[in-house]
Amino acid sequence: MISDIGRLLGPARVLEDEPARLSSARDSWPQALGWTQEELRGRMPAAVLKPRDDGGVSAVLAWAAAEGFSVVPRGAGSGVLGAAVPQGPKTVVLDLSGLTERFEIDARPGRPAVVCGAGMLGSDLEARLQGRGWSLMHFPQSMEDSSAGGWIATDSFGQFSTRYGGVKDQALWVKAALPDGGWRTEEAAPHLGAEGTLGVITEVALRVRQAARSRKFHAFRFKTLGSALDFAAGTMARPVAPSVLRLYCPTDAFFNGLRRGRGTGTASSTWMEAAQSLMLRRTRLLYALSPLVGRHWIAIVIYEEEPGFEGNAPARTAAGASIGEGPALRWWERRYHLDRERLERVFQRGCFADTLDLWAPWAKLAELHRAVLSALRPHAFAFSHLSHFDHRGACLYVTLAGSGAQDHAEAWSSAMDAAVRTGGSVNHHHGVGLAKLPWLQWARDADWRASWRAEKTRRDPKGMLNPGKLCQ
Ligand SMILES: Cc1cc2nc3c(=O)[nH]c(=O)nc-3n(C[C@H](O)[C@H](O)[C@H](O)COP(=O)(O)OP(=O)(O)OC[C@H]3O[C@@H](n4cnc5c(N)ncnc54)[C@H](O)[C@@H]3O)c2cc1C
Repeated sequence: MISDIGRLLGPARVLEDEPARLSSARDSWPQALGWTQEELRGRMPAAVLKPRDDGGVSAVLAWAAAEGFSVVPRGAGSGVLGAAVPQGPKTVVLDLSGLTERFEIDARPGRPAVVCGAGMLGSDLEARLQGRGWSLMHFPQSMEDSSAGGWIATDSFGQFSTRYGGVKDQALWVKAALPDGGWRTEEAAPHLGAEGTLGVITEVALRVRQAARSRKFHAFRFKTLGSALDFAAGTMARPVAPSVLRLYCPTDAFFNGLRRGRGTGTASSTWMEAAQSLMLRRTRLLYALSPLVGRHWIAIVIYEEEPGFEGNAPARTAAGASIGEGPALRWWERRYHLDRERLERVFQRGCFADTLDLWAPWAKLAELHRAVLSALRPHAFAFSHLSHFDHRGACLYVTLAGSGAQDHAEAWSSAMDAAVRTGGSVNHHHGVGLAKLPWLQWARDADWRASWRAEKTRRDPKGMLNPGKLCQ
């Protein structure tokens, strides 16, 4: 009975009212933004449980095991693939946003770190670190809306990954509760990308660095993706990688306001809003008009200057031209920008907007771009940028928009299939969730899947944690 857990956690920490249950019936998966109230009611958990400490998490897991409830861990609900969407009626959502008490900096030389509660939001964590002269290395665009535990569970990447890697490179250990009532303080590895199926993370230790002293901003333009990629490869070959390296196609550069340089105006947003409902039903016209917004790829390069790393600069380029620092400053000012309400309005008008995070090695990036963008063309208006470069390859990030649920579904599956044919991965940093489950084997490699299955059998043989995810 839910009232039993109410007695243990305290009534204010057990939400059974419909608005709370409805808001936990979905995360930030764009497809779920189009669900009707009826569809949402069909997904609603029996209750939302909000423990404030490890004792509360233990109590929930013991109670759920005894009562036969499934448990869906939830951080801040910013996942975009449905990984936190409850499956089945006998499910509770374990909302971990109250786990914010722990905050401790270990400033010992060599490997400074912060230990924090898993529910702490990225922006709160960074603000507390900055107040003491330290900084994270992890800055997802969802910095203000995602939690430290969620970063681990999705194997997230931040905007500075070119220099600092993903959260997998920064996580030292996690503390996690297991369904059998046990606790483990262990390496983060089993939990990276496990989407809450192997344990409930309550604490996270992340490497930190001294806050940057200054930053250098650069922008360049290129006539082709090929020449922009050559420039990116040259920049990556220099002794110190930039913190940020991003290549925007002409349309993505336009919608991000990169062609106009510094400033916080949102003319492109206004343009987009006005055009949305009409234009998203006429994607062929949008493609015909798109050359008007520009023909150049734009590269953004940002170096952070720490002691010993001063004076780095991007590769020299004969094929491109420097366009000053304005576009990079503009990107910096809007790097966490998201107008969620506007996105919801898109779906209310029967249209859709979604994103895809794909990956390919250097040699296949141009082919991946060509294949995915042409697969999308019959179903959606699409544009892209490349980011998260490392010595192996990069992420192709595609924004797609159009109208109608059928075109949305077909756009999604055509793009995923095109990525599979090209030989890339259908996942870079968003994870798998429900949206990519049919493509699981192209999102997580065979070794990863085998190790996940062995851990699942050991830790959660009855499948109590987040059932229906990563299970194919
Ligand atoms: C506008 C926008 C921009 C984004 N930008 C980025 C980006 O730059 N980089 C990036 O990597 N992602 C990005 N994302 C996706 C999302 O923010 C990340 O996946 C993030 O890591 C999710 O964290 P969360 O706390 O919101 O997790 P949730 O969405 O609540 O959960 C995600 C998954 O993690 C599990 N989980 C959450 N917390 C725990 C825990 N404590 N213990 C066990 N399991 C847990 C859930 O069960 C679920 O499976 C973006 C999303 C949006 C909406």
